Amino acid sequence: MKQYSVDERGYYGEFGGAFIPEILHKCVTDLKKAYLPIMESSKFQQDFNKLLQDYVGRPSPLYLSRQLSERFGAKIYLKREDLNHTGAHKINNTIGQILIAREMGKTRIIAETGAGQHGVATATVCALMQMPCTVYMGETDVKRQQVNVKKMEMLGATVVPVTSGNMTLKDATNEAIRDWCSHPSDTHYIIGSTIGPHPYPDMVARLQSVISKEIKVQLTEKEGRDYPNYLVACVGGGSNAAGTIYEYLDNDNVKIILAEAGGKGVESGESAATIHLGTAGVLHGCRTLLMQTEDGQITEPYSISAGLDYPGIGPIHANLAKQKRAEVLAVNDDEALKAAFELTRREGIIPALESAHALAALEKVTFMPDDIVVLTLSGRGDKDLETYFKYEGHY
Ligand SMILES: *Cc1c(COP(=O)(O)O)cnc(C)c1O
Repeated sequence: MKQYSVDERGYYGEFGGAFIPEILHKCVTDLKKAYLPIMESSKFQQDFNKLLQDYVGRPSPLYLSRQLSERFGAKIYLKREDLNHTGAHKINNTIGQILIAREMGKTRIIAETGAGQHGVATATVCALMQMPCTVYMGETDVKRQQVNVKKMEMLGATVVPVTSGNMTLKDATNEAIRDWCSHPSDTHYIIGSTIGPHPYPDMVARLQSVISKEIKVQLTEKEGRDYPNYLVACVGGGSNAAGTIYEYLDNDNVKIILAEAGGKGVESGESAATIHLGTAGVLHGCRTLLMQTEDGQITEPYSISAGLDYPGIGPIHANLAKQKRAEVLAVNDDEALKAAFELTRREGIIPALESAHALAALEKVTFMPDDIVVLTLSGRGDKDLETYFKYEGHY
């Protein structure tokens, strides 16, 4: 049997591992030793499940979309992560990590953020747990994402603008790592996706796996069996997708479709389709597929959707693509916009632009009438309204 989950060395096939500066060795090793025993303890389970239920609002509904089902000729369910507190799946991970940090005796939280979504989810749980929070954010992003900056500050976080490099996510991440190096004993670094050095990708995938655990229960109730024929999700770093597929990786009846951001087209030079365009290399602590030049310089990614605008991809997904366990489709800006307006008008649900990439991938698959499809709607569109208003009438 092929192995799709992480091995003892922190690898998914040839991807993963922990490539870190010497000074972080102890932090990462401590976390590696601590995360599974903590996550498997009944105290963690109780605290985590209670907060997911009463604070986040889980389980998130599994909604049968009649309109999409009719249109695509299969039974299409939406897993409604958009209905979570703070509007997306990211809160599942930040709640879990802050509980782990607290259990490890950490008293301070840091994070990096690009568009600000992960920063807001982190600032939210820091307010909840009364822990000081510093969020690093590239100055270019600080200027572009004023509402999220104000939200983080309102929640009590300190937002530090980063002025090195392109002043975007990559530079913010470097700064967060530098902070962690200088405060290794009291600080936990909350990474927002299935990326970074081992054990982060595995820890984040496990925390998000509540999505597929719920799908199993909900499908059993609605369909009398616990698995669909297809799972569909968008991938930026890969956390909502990892959570969606986690419980189904070894079930060959379930096809996995991942939608990455094609931007203006995979071949246009303005794209974030990492699995299509990437080659193996090391970024932010793990070996994975990266958008880079021949001599290893990271290429600036582009997508209309800030959450998919990342030059790497989780090692779990790089391996699933390589093993052909997942089919990876590139969805361009215009296709995502069209799908977003369609869901809005047909179902009264305004999706996040990231999630709209998953919706647009439905167009690229031929379904059988009996197929059951579960698509994860990773977030709601409130944060993307400005973009939607700009294109209203074009689609
Ligand atoms: C951040 C974000 C994503 C992309 O992150 P993943 O780790 O790939 O899930 C997707 N959808 C929404 C709504 C987001 O906020």
